[in-house]
Amino acid sequence: MAQPALSVRDLGVRYRGKDETIYALQGVSFDLAAGRVLALVGESGSGKTTAALALLRLLPAQGEVTSGQVLFEGRDLLQASDHDLRQVRGRQAAIIFQDPVAGLNPVLTIGEQVAETLRSHGGMDRKQARQAALDLLRGVGLAEPDRVSRAYPFQLSGGMCQRVMVAMATALNPSILLADEPTSSLDVTVQAQILYQLDELRRERQTAILLITHDFGVVAHMADEVAVIYAGRIVEHGSTEQVMLRPLHPYTAALIAATPRLDGDRGPLRGIPGNSPDLVAPSEHCPFAPRCGKAVNRCRAEPPPLLEPADGDAAHVVACYNTVWHG
Ligand code: ATP
Ligand code: MG
Repeated sequence: MAQPALSVRDLGVRYRGKDETIYALQGVSFDLAAGRVLALVGESGSGKTTAALALLRLLPAQGEVTSGQVLFEGRDLLQASDHDLRQVRGRQAAIIFQDPVAGLNPVLTIGEQVAETLRSHGGMDRKQARQAALDLLRGVGLAEPDRVSRAYPFQLSGGMCQRVMVAMATALNPSILLADEPTSSLDVTVQAQILYQLDELRRERQTAILLITHDFGVVAHMADEVAVIYAGRIVEHGSTEQVMLRPLHPYTAALIAATPRLDGDRGPLRGIPGNSPDLVAPSEHCPFAPRCGKAVNRCRAEPPPLLEPADGDAAHVVACYNTVWHG
């Protein structure tokens, strides 16, 4: 196994509201390795965006990291100075936000912000950066790069803003890329083009990619590994083949069963019966137990650990008491 580019250990996050606190992440651990794609999948509200934002300390003001470490090049990003963190964010780690408009500066034209990203990174002069920006915009399938370049974010569609963000993130040649639903508002042709670009970054620059998606078609196509998150906890993690062909957690199996087709058309993740827990208290039992057909008494007493099953494959872990674990 390659040396991890980024190691997340025991990450916990809560959001403090006026009336209640939401325990959005608990005990989340995973590694991102150079040249590999880890898909993070789970229902809406499971904590995927929270995880991506927390890694680069981009949580909104009410969000608070309660535990954990994010190790990158020998230091913990959660403890790094603001100056060091800005260096990492601007140069080594890029993020494609789920909300494309919020990821762009509203008072600069698209051309200005793409060129600024290029200049701050690549030592280009103004003219070179302007030309390179146009090439980048063309590269993400924007048909009229001149017009797009002169526009402000509010003058573009969500899908166009998303492509601009992909262009800026890939221009940095980052060693780490956090991509939060990077193709969710794009049609299938553009989606394929963007995924190709991300894959190229992985192959040619050895970028480590965290790919957040609802789409198991995208997972099958792009990811080396899959981590399944439920109510703020990782409940299963393994290679894409292990998780998709031999899911061990009842939640993963239900998610995959709810996907229209694995072998052909892509489809969004459909609902599975029941609701996710409300997260207003840290979970003291398996969070999936109320929706699980296989729950036993222990599932309602304490949360299961995430471990390798005794009869399973190496590096395929699951948090479920229906498993016989090693040891
Ligand atoms: P989706 O698939 O819809 O994007 P997600 O998996 O990205 O969902 P998050 O946005 O990380 O989910 O939200 C995780 C939990 O944290 C949810 O219960 C959500 O309501 C809560 N949450 C997220 N942002 C905030 C916030 N700014 N203030 C309070 N609670 C929040
Ligand atoms: Mg999200």
